[in-house]
Amino acid sequence: MSKVDLSQALHLLLQGKLVAVPTETVYGLAAIYDSTQALKEVFQRKERPLFDPLILHVSSLDQALLLADWDPLSLALAKHFWPGPLTLVLPKTDLVDPLITAGGPTVALRCPDHPLTQELIRNLNKPLAAPSANRFGHTSPTTADHVLQEFADQVPVLDGGPCTGGIESTVIEVNKTYREVRILRPGALNEKVLKAFLDERGDSHSVVVQTADHSPGHLKNHYQPTVLFQLVIYQGDSEPNEEVLKTHSIEGKKWTLPRDPLMAARQLYGDLRKFSKSGRSFYLCFPEASLQDPIWRAVGDRIRKASHQWFLSRADGKITMVEKT
Ligand code: AMP
Ligand code: MG
Repeated sequence: MSKVDLSQALHLLLQGKLVAVPTETVYGLAAIYDSTQALKEVFQRKERPLFDPLILHVSSLDQALLLADWDPLSLALAKHFWPGPLTLVLPKTDLVDPLITAGGPTVALRCPDHPLTQELIRNLNKPLAAPSANRFGHTSPTTADHVLQEFADQVPVLDGGPCTGGIESTVIEVNKTYREVRILRPGALNEKVLKAFLDERGDSHSVVVQTADHSPGHLKNHYQPTVLFQLVIYQGDSEPNEEVLKTHSIEGKKWTLPRDPLMAARQLYGDLRKFSKSGRSFYLCFPEASLQDPIWRAVGDRIRKASHQWFLSRADGKITMVEKT
């Protein structure tokens, strides 16, 4: 099984088969939303636990209206940011299979910004349930070839080129009681942009980062490469010296990320896969200040989860290994 075109993908999905599809964030492993059998297969293929809910992908807001009970702010957010890397968590309607929501009362919805997948969902006239097209805990795929490698050519892929965003969508939930927009997973839509939108509307909801702990994006290990990845978080302005790092057994290839956070996101998973393939361990020096910066939050989150060991390099040059949390 390998690459398929749009009409083959359509046909397979209608038959209850799985197809990997491109989005602007990462490739998704898609199943038609109303086939319990196909949904079950998504979990089996990914070796994903059933308690981890799936995101439903729609081609229009109209389609999404039937799947959830919408509040005015969520509606305004969808109108503004869709198609795009924003996933909204809302109370589900009866149309949504409990397998999709892991038995819970809420459903995650998103309209992906990729012409091929848009057309596919439009032609199907039904939403697609699609988690990232990788085995549970592994690095997410950002090209069709990554998907083929991930599932040993056993999953057909609709090739839409390399993903422009490179990391998963931002998952949010509007909490009316506390007047909060809660970021459940930092992602490709930057929280600065989200805040600017609320400010412009004169909206009083505050944006809070609140990662729940029931989903894999929120486990401390995720997206991990198959070779040792050491992360050095450094304080101050300058990176620690390579010789000093060696004395702490921090060695292997040095990973350099682009300075632009959008470029860094785009390159991130492809780089992790290259390191896995090379069989050689690697390390990254990342400034502590960036971990707190909203612009870098999503990339920082993925780097932390993908790494195996953490080190803190203080401004005075002292390096200590710290526990991964
Ligand atoms: P993936 O598509 O593999 O990136 O994973 C989908 C992620 O979306 C899950 O791991 C959760 O973090 C999030 N998600 C999906 N449905 C819900 C929901 N009902 N409530 C909260 N988070 C959700
Ligand atoms: Mg995933």
